Amino acid sequence: MNFTQGFRDSALAQKLLENIRRKSKTPANIMEFCGGHTVAIFRYGLRELLPPHLKLLSGPGCPVCVTASADLDKVMALAAVPGVVITTFGDLIKVPASYSSLDRARAAGADVRTVYSTLDALDIARQNPDKKVVFVGIGFETTAPTIAAAILQAAAEKLSNFSVLSLHKVTPPVTKVLLDAGEVKLQGIICPGHVSAIIGADAWEFIPERYGIACAVSGFEPLDVLQCVNLIVEQIEAGTPKVETAYSRAVKAEGNPIALKMLDTVFEPSAANWRGIGEIPGSGLKIRSEYAAYDADKLFDIKLDKPSREPAGCLCGEVIRAVKTPEDCKLFRKVCTPENPVGPCMVSSEGSCAAYYHFAEVI
Ligand code: SF4
Repeated sequence: MNFTQGFRDSALAQKLLENIRRKSKTPANIMEFCGGHTVAIFRYGLRELLPPHLKLLSGPGCPVCVTASADLDKVMALAAVPGVVITTFGDLIKVPASYSSLDRARAAGADVRTVYSTLDALDIARQNPDKKVVFVGIGFETTAPTIAAAILQAAAEKLSNFSVLSLHKVTPPVTKVLLDAGEVKLQGIICPGHVSAIIGADAWEFIPERYGIACAVSGFEPLDVLQCVNLIVEQIEAGTPKVETAYSRAVKAEGNPIALKMLDTVFEPSAANWRGIGEIPGSGLKIRSEYAAYDADKLFDIKLDKPSREPAGCLCGEVIRAVKTPEDCKLFRKVCTPENPVGPCMVSSEGSCAAYYHFAEVI
């Protein structure tokens, strides 16, 4: 048995399910914040295994999906600058901006390269001193430390042709905005696992304290998610909401101090624009002025020549806020597919629409 298989043990899953079914009496909406959880829940058919009065809802935890069209348009404008090499993780390449996408720009001659790590982007910069290599930083607290590390490395090497367009977002502020809006009444939240490995489980204390909502941090294997739901059900039934962790092999209460220090060294909080939600103060990470030499926002005069727009008919904004499901979208499966994505939620490997497309039963 390998390490991962231990968290897919069907006998243990059955026991957890029996516990959940026996204990759970109260109908509850439980939102999984993270797109990785949405995919795991669909992949292992967990929704169908839970009692029908426990409803799992997909939240805003897909960084590509929540990136606003205007920010994607900035990326497109940068890709059009002569001598610029755009480097980014693969998910972004096919995401439609207002008028095009990076893969179409690449087909038209733009230099757009997929990388698996920021170290690859640094290598491209070292090997192409005559080019300006821009890494598009889209992600939550999970990946932002690696981008901070790349900026620190570039500064240490005095690598003058590397910069980052920071479109990073941090997760607690958007959670507060969604809970304050109250569009969907939640009784439980499955807190993101990888984000919590960086910021710590304690970062979610405001959920039980301010909103009286049960919550627990989950990993991404089926037993992690079932254990997390089990903890949330126990809290709901006992009327004692708190923060618990069903992912203790990766998440500590205080998070990862080294990664947090790196984040704080390179970035400072800023407002960020979320698709379907709008601007949220303090929910972004901008590069500190000490590292302005690596800030693509400062190095390039990025101007948009046309107004940004959302894809016609696309409900990604509502899907991100859990007020609609992908199946509510008229374009789902008929027009919008992974091969021909209309909105970002169909492109990203963590997108709700892609998860529904690949794993939900066709009605
Ligand atoms: Fe947008 Fe496509 Fe999802 Fe509809 S199915 S919400 S068009 S991504």
